[in-house]
Amino acid sequence: MSGVCTAIELKRAGRHNFVVLEKSAGLGGTWWSNRYPGAHVDVPAPLYCFSFEPNPRWQRRFAAAAEIQAYMAHCADKYALHPHLRLGCAITAARFDENSGLWHIEVAGGPALRARFFVCSTGPLSVARWPAIPGLESFAGTRLHSAHWNADVALKGRRVAVIGSGSTAAQLVPPLAQQAAHLHVFQRTANWVLPRMDRRYGRADQLLAQLPPYARAVRAFWTQLLELGRRGFDEGTRMRKHMLRMAQAHLRRGVADEGLRQRLRPPYALGCKRIIYSNDYYPTLAQPQVELVTSAISHVTPQGIVTADGREHALDVLVCATGFDVQHALAVPITGRGGALLADAWAQGPQAHLGLSVAGFPNLFLMLGPNTATGHTSTLLFIEPGVRWALRAMSEVQRRGQRWLDLKPEVMQAFNDALQARLKTSVWAGCRSWYRADSGRNIAIWPGFTREYVRAVQAERFDDFTFA
Ligand code: NAP
Repeated sequence: MSGVCTAIELKRAGRHNFVVLEKSAGLGGTWWSNRYPGAHVDVPAPLYCFSFEPNPRWQRRFAAAAEIQAYMAHCADKYALHPHLRLGCAITAARFDENSGLWHIEVAGGPALRARFFVCSTGPLSVARWPAIPGLESFAGTRLHSAHWNADVALKGRRVAVIGSGSTAAQLVPPLAQQAAHLHVFQRTANWVLPRMDRRYGRADQLLAQLPPYARAVRAFWTQLLELGRRGFDEGTRMRKHMLRMAQAHLRRGVADEGLRQRLRPPYALGCKRIIYSNDYYPTLAQPQVELVTSAISHVTPQGIVTADGREHALDVLVCATGFDVQHALAVPITGRGGALLADAWAQGPQAHLGLSVAGFPNLFLMLGPNTATGHTSTLLFIEPGVRWALRAMSEVQRRGQRWLDLKPEVMQAFNDALQARLKTSVWAGCRSWYRADSGRNIAIWPGFTREYVRAVQAERFDDFTFA
């Protein structure tokens, strides 16, 4: 989505000399790859479109993956992006050449490209993570990862397992339970679940959404409401108490059995891991053909999963909803000034300045880079300011008659010291999650309000960069 947003903004700024490289066969990034049953966005759809391109066609407040893909296709058509798109084109390496001031970008099976500016929009949740469970490879049935779904795999009447209990599992489990003869849900950690305030958007909603003032008001409403939700991550706030009460009531309503409820109570503070928004996850776990397994997984055999209590769970299909390798999401070797590899600079985990710039990597703009994720709002609210900054920086390089700009290392250091100090005393410090690298450093979360990020990007100063 950030790649498409960049392409649109480039065109709107009158810049047409660019290409968009996409390794998948279609647009949509995460929404192209994640095709598991039940995939939908967990923020209200009026906030899950670009501010300059409202979508009056949403069919639900929490839109399904297919609707989001359709929206992306609409954007590509409307803004005439097709001549710029190279679908099925994977970058294999990128190297900055100091002499020419150009990025050399190698692509699989084609000639290398040279570019003045390199906007890297590969997404933090793009490399599927398989669990490190002994024997996983030996499983003789069908093994799937939620991020590489195969819709041809038959599930009806079969014994199916889901490993994981995060946002993806919570979306997958209800539709799988409708098909499987028996569904085992392997939960290592129980998560916080809040109601999803979903509803269908009928004809009247869609007609009203075509009126710009109405569309703007709906968007402003959700922006402010979700921003208010950010307060829920701070200890002692009224919002936090309210969210805790909501979560407890939601569990009571969804699961009648106190024994099951007990196993669904999270062992960590609300918000430390991503909150799940679902109305059907709890009731599904209470269904007779669904079994929540909380004994730790010991190993996988050709027939199924063996847990620490000695039970063997016989299976036909094993689904891993085990998330993404966020630490190594930028899987392509990227070389900056002096031959420095980004992977080496990020040995302790990715870091950047406002998620956008990395010292020593000139004219590189990361989209949704380190520490730009939130647990409370739409990621698109972070994409748009980042794209605007990239365009502003490009213009400035050209206005000065220079070839590149590079962030000063001391600026990046000071920014990350302050960011990490703030994160250390936050709710996100208290548990293991994809927000944190192996080193323990939080590499994903923007700890503040959205408006703080937007203002910080708007206030970005060219004095913090060297030009050459
Ligand atoms: P995740 O949040 O990282 O959850 C992975 C799950 O797998 C966790 O429950 C984890 O348990 C479990 N797990 C990992 N390795 C395991 C092992 N070896 N044994 C047993 N359990 C294991 O991944 P996700 O659910 O795919 O979600 C990732 C992010 O994607 C979300 O936080 C969200 O930001 C995004 N997402 C968004 C939407 C949306 O609606 N927009 C939908 C889906 C996902 P532990 O908790 O114990 O580690």
